[in-house]
Amino acid sequence: MARPSLLTRLGLPALPLLLPPLVYYLWLAVHSNDGALLLRRFDLSDLPPPTWSALALFGGWLLLQAALQALVPGPWVQGAPLADGTRLPYRLNGWRSLWITGALLGGAAALGWLPLAGAARLLGPLLSVAIGFSFLCSLYLHLHGRLWPDQGSAERLGPVHDFVLGTARNPRLGRFDLKLFFEARPGLLGWAVLNLSLLALQLEGHGQLSNSMILVVAAQLWYVADYFLFEQAILDTWDIRHENFGWMLCFGDVVWVPFTYTLQAHYLVHNPVQLPAWAVVGIAALHLGGYVIFRGSNLQRHRFRADPARPVWGQPPRVIHTAAGPPLLASGWWGLARHINYLGDLLMGLAWCLTCGFRRLLPYFYIIYFTVLLVHRERRDNAACGARYGADWRRYTELVPWRIVPRVY
Ligand code: NDP
Repeated sequence: MARPSLLTRLGLPALPLLLPPLVYYLWLAVHSNDGALLLRRFDLSDLPPPTWSALALFGGWLLLQAALQALVPGPWVQGAPLADGTRLPYRLNGWRSLWITGALLGGAAALGWLPLAGAARLLGPLLSVAIGFSFLCSLYLHLHGRLWPDQGSAERLGPVHDFVLGTARNPRLGRFDLKLFFEARPGLLGWAVLNLSLLALQLEGHGQLSNSMILVVAAQLWYVADYFLFEQAILDTWDIRHENFGWMLCFGDVVWVPFTYTLQAHYLVHNPVQLPAWAVVGIAALHLGGYVIFRGSNLQRHRFRADPARPVWGQPPRVIHTAAGPPLLASGWWGLARHINYLGDLLMGLAWCLTCGFRRLLPYFYIIYFTVLLVHRERRDNAACGARYGADWRRYTELVPWRIVPRVY
């Protein structure tokens, strides 16, 4: 195993201490500081305590999503090969679960059983519950990996790193895959549902909806729905294939995604922005352009891996055969930049931030964080592919020198 860098050795153990305060700070800055970066005052009593209602809502949501993953019919597919060449079966029922969730919540709201803005009103307490849960769940995952080690369990860096990074790659309860569940269900769907709840809160508070709110909620709902429509692609992602399931992924799934990706909608509840028509069209076009790149490139790679002879943009594909594994595609989207899919994702993220106008920097947190994440992720993947494919990867980098943005980076 490669020796971890100094940053990894020092930085990783600090994450559980640093990230929860950062998420609280973002919540506070929007909730009670008018979206300004510098908090006018801070007192520990400003932090939202967990409440029984928030606990019930959070627990009910988790149980509902777990039941849907366990019970809704869907095709079983084989995951990517593990280190020993075996593959794990996954039942893909996310698209159906999304519609069932929508029907259940929509029905409950129509019957008046569930106030649509209720979750948004409980955003602070829900955040505290989710943070607490992420630590408890990670503790369980830690023990699970020790008791039932799997192929990710050999990479031991010490107890704190093990807690943060996880002690097992694919912890399962029977056939219920915990990592797939947390990666996809409570957080991603929770993001979309919290957004809708924030939209309802804006309507309640201001008597009307701003076009910026409609735009950002619709665009992010599209992003989440697209994820479930192409659910099988998740089995090829870095997180599923290469990461152990520990605090870092768990916190990302149940806290980071639902509570920081909703930042724009949360901001717009307190600061409604009415965009001029040209801005609506421009932002929608940016989102659409980003989506075409993001989905087009991910799908193209997926199809290429299934059938390397399939034409790419009407031409025979430019293929780099590798000694160490599957071939690499060096034409189509993958001939423009080596992680062109990240560019698409970034353009969509930028579109979401732009819905909030330019009065405050805080709603741009997402695009700043996401750029850092994807630049780092590209470097990490580039190094991993360099190690895996050796000279064949170098040939690819010579043919396609751009990392993410053609002719720029
Ligand atoms: P990547 O899209 O970075 O996949 C990288 C892998 O693809 C490589 O390790 C290699 O795997 C294979 N590959 C690379 N180049 C080629 C090529 N030319 N031809 C064929 N295969 C190639 O995986 P990620 O999991 O990082 O990202 C997946 C998607 O998820 C991206 O679109 C990203 O934007 C998105 N994402 C979204 C996040 C969010 O919070 N919204 C967070 C992170 C990612 P191998 O050869 O081993 O198969």
